[in-house]
Parts: sequence; structure tokens; C-alpha cells
Amino acid sequence: MKSVKIENVSKQFGQVPGVKDLNLTIKAGEFFTFLGPSGCGKTTTLRMIAGFYYPTEGKILFDDRDVTLLQPNKRNIGMVFQNYALFPHMTVDENIAFGLQVRKLSKTEITQKVDRIRGLVHLEQYGRRKINELSGGQQQRVALARALVIEPDILLLDEPLSNLDAKLREETRIEIKRIQTELGVTTIYVTHDQMEAMAMSDRIMVMEQGIIKQIGTPQEIYNRPLNRFVADFIGETNLIEATIESINGDDIQAKTVNGLNFIGRKQHSSPTLTHMIGDKVFISIRPESVNLGPGENKLIGKISFVEFTGVSVNYIVDFTEFSLKVMIINSNGQLKQIGEDITLHIAQDSLYFLGE
Ligand code: ATP
Repeated sequence: MKSVKIENVSKQFGQVPGVKDLNLTIKAGEFFTFLGPSGCGKTTTLRMIAGFYYPTEGKILFDDRDVTLLQPNKRNIGMVFQNYALFPHMTVDENIAFGLQVRKLSKTEITQKVDRIRGLVHLEQYGRRKINELSGGQQQRVALARALVIEPDILLLDEPLSNLDAKLREETRIEIKRIQTELGVTTIYVTHDQMEAMAMSDRIMVMEQGIIKQIGTPQEIYNRPLNRFVADFIGETNLIEATIESINGDDIQAKTVNGLNFIGRKQHSSPTLTHMIGDKVFISIRPESVNLGPGENKLIGKISFVEFTGVSVNYIVDFTEFSLKVMIINSNGQLKQIGEDITLHIAQDSLYFLGE
């Protein structure tokens, strides 16, 4: 396993910028995810690491080796794509063995390695099956086996679960994580699915329009988003526009246009904020941080939507300037009705202040 260092990397497609001045280091053995909406530059970055694209500027290093302009087959990487890219008329074993044959390993060695890796992905009984006789989930495991059998220094996965249905996606996600932990291979994973990224990754890079918006552990990204984009993209959140009214020690008071006051803590705000009176801020409130009844940051609004999901009761509560998504976990089955007034409060520690 190797580390991957990306230094000042940009990729320009004619007039279209793919990614802009990326700098990051992926540690050896890490499960690292590129996350962001369609077109943000995830695949472009992965393809430069694989060697399918060359950067317009900057350098890529595996450990201390500069691989920026090296051909893909010289990089010792394993790659899994969304559409598997398997040979449909060949058997599972023939598919897995492909990379080893290219490397001219002996027959015995190939059989040993294929057997071992087929076991690792739980396809022991399927060696002689043709690819077109397998389910989508099984095909994806063959693709993973084929990428891993060559013992890559780096495993690259580009939206590998997006062709699977929800249940299989979750099962395969757990499988991939198990195999990665077992092998300890440096893994770079591309997805636009934030749940998937949160569940699997050691660290996540959130991207938007070719730039990095934040790099951090799933907990950091969720609990300490650096900016509005990250807060909004990861999980559900309410973003309320306000102006800083006063600062008193660790307390920040912010007011909305129509005069609603919120009090939160300075330490619960993005480090990019300057904390000056008069600054515009976004107050980020997770739906699960809103509580029923009176308390800190009390609000009274009107219910415009109710939904019972089993785990929670979800409300949308309207105020003059904004609506609040509210998720009540222990509701004891009591539902309020659309049109009813509802009293809510948000603990001062649960507000989070963000800049643009
Ligand atoms: P998706 O999730 O839809 O695959 P992505 O985050 O992987 O999106 P990229 O495919 O990396 O995004 O694309 C980043 C930007 O570069 C987009 O604006 C895209 O249109 C552009 N782009 C990507 N590949 C090419 C190419 N071969 N030629 C021209 N423009 C490209």
C-alpha cells in the first residue's frame, strides 16, 4: 500500500475546467472518498490518479515516486468501474485471472491467487460460471476480485454500487469495507452518495465545481462543516440567514431580517468566520437537533407537513421568513396535525454558524 500525493493539480478540457489547483495527501492504507454533485470533478481526479488523464498542471506522487505522466499499466493500481467492465462470455475465474495472465505469471501461481481472492469476495462456488449468468451484485464482486488479485498498491473505485438496488448496495458496501479493512489497501472511492461516503470512509473530500470544499473525517464533515455548501450537501440541514448582533464571551447572538433571535456558541462556528458584529452568517440547524416544547432558542411556528417514518416523526414548520425541517426521534407515536401551532426549541450548543 502506498500514499497518494496530489500537488497543485489542475485539469483543463479546452475551455472547460475539470479540476482547479487540488492539493491533498491520501495516507497509505486509508479509505478516502471523493464526494460531490455531478460534474464537480471526482472522476477527473480519479482518472488522473489512474493515468487515463494527464494533469494540465501539477504533480501526482505514489509515496515519493512521481507518476504524473506514467502509463496506467505501469502504476500497479486496481480499478473498479460503475459498469463493471467485465468480459461477459468468459467465466468468473477467467475474468479474475486476466490481469495475472497479462503479467505472465505461472499457471500454478494464477490458480492459487484466483482461488484465494474468489474466497475473499465470497464467490467460492462460482469460478466456472459465465459473467452473464451472475446477478449484478455478484458481477460487482468479480470486478472487485479482478482489481484486487494483482495486489495493487492503490485500489480505485468509481461509483461501484450505483447499478445495484438499495438492499444489495448496502450489502456490497459492507463487503467492500470488510475486504478493504482485511487487506489494508489504500482505497480511493468516488461517489455522489453522502450516506455511502459517511459509512465507508476514513476521510472524505467534498468537491464542488472542481475545487475542494472540505477534507475531513465523516464526523468532522458532519459536525463541523467549513461552509454552507458542505453543511447543505452532507445530511439534511436547515440554513437560516442572519446577521451577528452581539458577541458576549463565547456567546453569539444573531438576528434574522424579521427579528427572530438565535443564540449559539462561538466555538460552534466555522473557523473561516471572522465573528464581527454586522457579519452575515448562515445558522445551520440539523432537523434532529430541534426539540419539542419550550427551551433555549424557543420558536413557535405552524406545521405544514407531517410524516411518520417509523424511526421518527418529521415535520415541516413554517415561520414568516423560513421553514424548518424537524425530526423527532422519540415521539411516542403522538402526531401533531397540519395547521397546528407547534412550540420548538434548539439548544444553544446545537446551532452552528457558517459563512458562504
Ligand atoms: P459525475 O458524478 O457526473 O461523474 P464528476 O464529479 O465525476 O461527475 P467529472 O466527470 O470529473 O465530474 O467532470 C468535471 C468537469 O469536467 C465537468 O464539467 C465535465 O463536463 C468536464 N469533463 C469531464 N471529462 C471531460 C472530457 N473528457 N472532455 C470535456 N470535458 C470533460
